[in-house]
Amino acid sequence: MIGRISTDQIRVDPSHLPYQWFILSSMETMEELLERAEQSHGHMCAGQVLGVRMAMLGCRAVGVADPRGADRKSLIAFVEIDRCAADAVNTVTGCRLGKRTLKYYDYGKLAATFLNVKTGEAVRVVALDSSREAADRAFPEIESKYERQLHAYKLLPEDELFKVETVRVTLPPQDRPGRPVSRVQCDECGEGINDHREVISEDRTLCRACAGEAYYTRL
Ligand SMILES: [Zn+2]
Ligand SMILES: [Zn+2]
Repeated sequence: MIGRISTDQIRVDPSHLPYQWFILSSMETMEELLERAEQSHGHMCAGQVLGVRMAMLGCRAVGVADPRGADRKSLIAFVEIDRCAADAVNTVTGCRLGKRTLKYYDYGKLAATFLNVKTGEAVRVVALDSSREAADRAFPEIESKYERQLHAYKLLPEDELFKVETVRVTLPPQDRPGRPVSRVQCDECGEGINDHREVISEDRTLCRACAGEAYYTRL
């Protein structure tokens, strides 16, 4: 077990440190988290490595040292892609769709935002496209592109892999964990709708599907 990170450690330039340094931001080592990610996701891949490191960086940046333990009520993660890395963010942070602590925005970007709900601090971490070339440059001797990226993404400094932005995230009450803040019925289909997801159209209360936003067609 590794203790909490101190502010002095945060100021150290991570590029001068071995990757094991990143364990300081978490109760577990990166290797342990990668093992956990592989199990949960079903395979090891570059997305797991980037996702694990992205989440470790994000947690550290907003002062969340133990996201699945002592700090489990402090963090909300917003993922911008439904691919491999999203599972790794879930593995590291413990943020889950069913707990309303994992939010999915369909932007098609390998990026995620980490919000400390206790302090309001938030960072958005974006995987750089240039990380592929950085991997090629760092390990030209590794022939397979897949192996090269897997290896490099574990070892390259964070600033070669990610862009980090300080952001503000406004999370309205109806998007927060906890009991639903409202429940109404759709005037068209009769189905119940939680948390103000209804649409008011010509004095009728409609679910999004009946209001024309359905992703399905009834047969
Ligand atoms: Zn994968
Ligand atoms: Zn409806």
